[in-house]
Amino acid sequence: MSSRFFHNLPLMTLSGIGPTLAKKFHDLGILTVADLLLHFPLRYEDRASTHAINEVTVGEYTTITGTIIKNEIIPTRQRRMLVCHIQDETGIALLKFMNFNRGIQATLSTGTEISAYGEIKWGKNHPEMMHPQFHVQANRQTRAGNSGYPQTEPQERFTPVYPTTYGLTQHVIRKAIDNALLLLKRNPPVEILPESLHTAFLDVATALTIIHHPPLDIDINELTTGRHPAIKRFIFEELLAYHLSMLTIKLHNQKQHAYNLKPNQHFIQPFLAALPFTPTGAQTRVVKDILSDMAKSIPMMRLIQGDVGSGKTLVAALAALNAIENGKQVALMAPTEILAEQHFTNFSRWFAPLGIQVDWLSGRLTAKNKQRCLDKAQSGETALLIGTHALFFDKVEFTDLGLVIIDEQHRFGVNQRLTLWEKGIKNHHYPHQLIMTATPIPRTLAMTVYADLDVSIIDELPPGRTPVTTIVVSNLRRDEMIERVNQACQAGRQVYWVCTLVEESEAIDAKAAELLVEELRMRLPHLHIELVHGKMKSDQKQSIMQQFKQGEIQLLVATTVIEVGVDVPNASLMIIENAERLGLAQLHQLRGRVGRGTAVSHCVLLYQPPLSKIAKARLQVMRESNDGFIIAQKDLEIRGSGEILGTHQIGGANFKVVDLVRDQAMISDVQKISYSLSQHYPECAKQLIASWLPDREKYINA
Ligand code: ADP
Ligand code: MG
Repeated sequence: MSSRFFHNLPLMTLSGIGPTLAKKFHDLGILTVADLLLHFPLRYEDRASTHAINEVTVGEYTTITGTIIKNEIIPTRQRRMLVCHIQDETGIALLKFMNFNRGIQATLSTGTEISAYGEIKWGKNHPEMMHPQFHVQANRQTRAGNSGYPQTEPQERFTPVYPTTYGLTQHVIRKAIDNALLLLKRNPPVEILPESLHTAFLDVATALTIIHHPPLDIDINELTTGRHPAIKRFIFEELLAYHLSMLTIKLHNQKQHAYNLKPNQHFIQPFLAALPFTPTGAQTRVVKDILSDMAKSIPMMRLIQGDVGSGKTLVAALAALNAIENGKQVALMAPTEILAEQHFTNFSRWFAPLGIQVDWLSGRLTAKNKQRCLDKAQSGETALLIGTHALFFDKVEFTDLGLVIIDEQHRFGVNQRLTLWEKGIKNHHYPHQLIMTATPIPRTLAMTVYADLDVSIIDELPPGRTPVTTIVVSNLRRDEMIERVNQACQAGRQVYWVCTLVEESEAIDAKAAELLVEELRMRLPHLHIELVHGKMKSDQKQSIMQQFKQGEIQLLVATTVIEVGVDVPNASLMIIENAERLGLAQLHQLRGRVGRGTAVSHCVLLYQPPLSKIAKARLQVMRESNDGFIIAQKDLEIRGSGEILGTHQIGGANFKVVDLVRDQAMISDVQKISYSLSQHYPECAKQLIASWLPDREKYINA
């Protein structure tokens, strides 16, 4: 396979990149020179967009220019912080740095003239920027006149701002990319798109140069919104590669064999008879789709999309029973231990009266018990085995796996899913696959992300639910909310208090949650309050969730680990802190934890004022709708109108350049081209997949 533009060239071949830097780039997912070249700027700093300090807008990325009048180091709870006060003719602004070294400190000495670029936040008295990009004005003066002497900063109007990680500066990234661009100039890449498409796009080298060094006269919005031909080329390629790979997987799947499992009513009948409720019309319809797939001799690959609380578990149970009554085994994979345990409890209760063996491969098992669990799966004694994906990848072997069920699919990548699926291959027969997700994705996006799957939708909630009432409240009214929590608990209800990501680091986040618990315990001393977060040991987490389920814990403070699936019907109030920082899909998932019982439930979205216009609009959507599909659609519309939030990851798909939300208009074109390309230019299709999705190559050649 030709190496396109250095897809196989390790990053370390670039001059100036040793093991330490390579490791940092690795953290960003950059392993090869191509990855680096495709590491596109998040946005561009526009030197021409300088604002007077008294005219800045909160939430906007802006350049301000002024003189440093004060420079101090302030100890904070976590680390020391460097704070620079800069002044122009109109006012004072603060620049704050958590990660700084002596060099930065020295550069930012009083009297220095600098321009700083970053997001404007409102501080106590002045606007501020956290970790802004900055340039010392004095350094930019006149060295250009010196023949060939390199300038310290390139004189470009637009400076790219790249996604980065701790310890990797913009300058280092920029330098590495410039080296890669030089290499590219010396070794022009081979064009792999068929000739009929050439004219529509710029060639690779030109396009990359424009993206990393936008010319003065460019309309920079065209680049950031994905409309400029330079970036369109890569969006198109990646979408195409992704779609082709899904298509290939689907075709591959259709050539495989599976055991046809026809319902014989041995278990399904008595199960439904004993169930305290009847399935909804939507559940019945979706089960019918599933049973008709499973009766065929090609493996089912069906995705069930159903809003939170729509009753996907019951659908999974019926699919499992169909496999089991045909003498097959079933594997159920959940994204977290908490969910795996919850499924284990439900399925045991449902299946034990039928004499069906359900087992749980928990992370808590002792080595001996784990071995026993594995033995029982291998001997066929276990009919249904439940666990997290980590556990299934371990060493599980089945005698006769007929069905793989994957819950909350958006947490798993396509590759993980396919790996588990392949585990079940016996005598050239594949297991059927049922995938469930609560992340509603609008249709156009689903066509791409789930292009390899058949999709059924549960579009109806079980009867008797009272919709959750959502209110949006400023953090200034926090005391009232604490009183509200108190009242709910006194009335015998349970409450979630969700403490969301405050810092980028999970450790700091967990710390913030611990402080919150202390605060709440002090204010509400008579309540039983506990904390659950991602950094805790899994058995600790389990035990707390268990106590919450049993009603022993009244107020559960949690980070977003409770986002998916947890079912505690007595919980009727949820407070979400910093709601303005979360995506709508995530807020909707979180809110889905309440409103599961018959009591009227409330969700309080606490925000930190002032709210930007977009944040306001988004919280408004949450207040107005409880329907995941509507929320997802609105989310797109709001984003479409300006703010570019990264959507490189959606429904388990993970893109380098594509932002599915931003780029959705291209999807239908790509689909058309993809079909014809796979027929008329199979070599080109292979090369595209190989260069964009190298880990999927094995499915292509299979
Ligand atoms: P999700 O789709 O979010 O996974 P669950 O399967 O956890 O939803 O179901 C949510 C709740 O609804 C559970 O308590 C479940 O027992 C209940 N439920 C499911 N189907 C029905 C139904 N047809 N009628 C009444 N309650 C139902
Ligand atoms: Mg569920």
